[in-house]
Amino acid sequence: MDRQQEHVLRVVEERGIRFLRLWFTDVQGSLKSVGVAPAELENAFTEGIGFDGSAIEGFARVVEADTLAMPDASTFQVLPWPNGAEAGIARMFCDITLPDGTPSSADPRQVLRRALAATEDEGYTLYTHPEIEFFLFEPQLDEWGRPVPIDDAGYFDHLAHGDGHDFRRAAIDMLETMGIAVEFSHHEGAPGQNEIDLRYADALTTADNIMTFRTVVKEVALSQGCFASFMPKPMQEHAGSGMHTHFSLFDGDHNAFHEPGAEYQLSITGRRFVAGVLRHAREISAVTNQWVNSYKRLWGGGEAPAHVCWGHNNRSAMVRIPMYKPTKGQSSRIEVRTLDSACNPYLAFALVLAAGMRGITEEYELPPEAEDDVWALTDRERRILGIEPLPSSLTEALHVMEESELVAETLGEHVFDQLLRNKREEWRAYRGQVTQYELQNYLRRL
Ligand code: GLU
Ligand code: MG
Ligand code: MG
Repeated sequence: MDRQQEHVLRVVEERGIRFLRLWFTDVQGSLKSVGVAPAELENAFTEGIGFDGSAIEGFARVVEADTLAMPDASTFQVLPWPNGAEAGIARMFCDITLPDGTPSSADPRQVLRRALAATEDEGYTLYTHPEIEFFLFEPQLDEWGRPVPIDDAGYFDHLAHGDGHDFRRAAIDMLETMGIAVEFSHHEGAPGQNEIDLRYADALTTADNIMTFRTVVKEVALSQGCFASFMPKPMQEHAGSGMHTHFSLFDGDHNAFHEPGAEYQLSITGRRFVAGVLRHAREISAVTNQWVNSYKRLWGGGEAPAHVCWGHNNRSAMVRIPMYKPTKGQSSRIEVRTLDSACNPYLAFALVLAAGMRGITEEYELPPEAEDDVWALTDRERRILGIEPLPSSLTEALHVMEESELVAETLGEHVFDQLLRNKREEWRAYRGQVTQYELQNYLRRL
């Protein structure tokens, strides 16, 4: 055992931890949890906890049925719910391995680790910070089965004793007790919609934090008599929930995206990274936007991107170079606006990173900035400007991903195949639906 693991054993003893939860995710980013008794912890650190991977989405493969969850001691946290820290419940994220210690090819956290290691080989560390949007709804749906938002407020509205306000304070308290720093929070544009932005951290920590965040937000919502949803587009007539993510690469202490005096203070490395993210955006879309419903957000306006382009102060752009603030030091970064709040953060970060790194190593040239509101242009105008559309549906995204050598290589053959299979199945189930829209428009007319 190393010192960190010994430290965890001590804390477990001192704080009277009685339940330990080992967390990991399946390929779609659903959180999975295995409970272990504190007496088993030392063994878990040295030998891992065995479980039958074949029952978990994306882990199913006969030769890998015997998989081990190896707790990552650096992620140990006492959980402040359900009844406060006194309840004695703690969690750690796990890396999944095979009995011989090799990383499981089905584990999304290992996919991200691999992509980060390849980036380290090039001399860079990836930092990320997400702006996470989500909705708060009343517990009951309306008579047509639609969700009912808990308030009727809009962008940055301050509600006197507003539910969203109380909610955000309680959620932020809980996140901060768990060591997750929050940078900003506000009411978002749609009724019941909120946004909480996490402080930047290395990408693996951010991805873990996002998984914790989703759980915390759902717990706090339940304790306040509502429910939280990260569904990309829950209400047809309102904006959906994105998870715009800021990316920057550091080379030691130096921000490799920062170059004083360059346009937007963005270095040539930063420009090539953006070029990579743009060139491969369509290929990685089935992961950054992995649900049938994700494409209703991308194609539904509401400040979500629908086209592959970049801009500075252009909210219709897929990648935005935020305003540079000299007071914030080397804060140059890029904001990728495609990701939605229901993506698997491990896989989505791995792919954005791989796309950006491909731009750097292959020295891609950044296309010209999109200066206009790209939604307002006609298809022809966009074609002339070389602005391509993002896939308009999950099935289109899957067709593009299937041909992508970059995605297959980054995810590894197993996750790549599992995702394709799983997502094709989702599309098949969806395409067979007879919707309300069809009944309304065709039933009596045809
Ligand atoms: N809700 C918008 C989206 O789905 C983003 C709004 C904003 O600019 O923060 O991407
Ligand atoms: Mg927002
Ligand atoms: Mg944003």
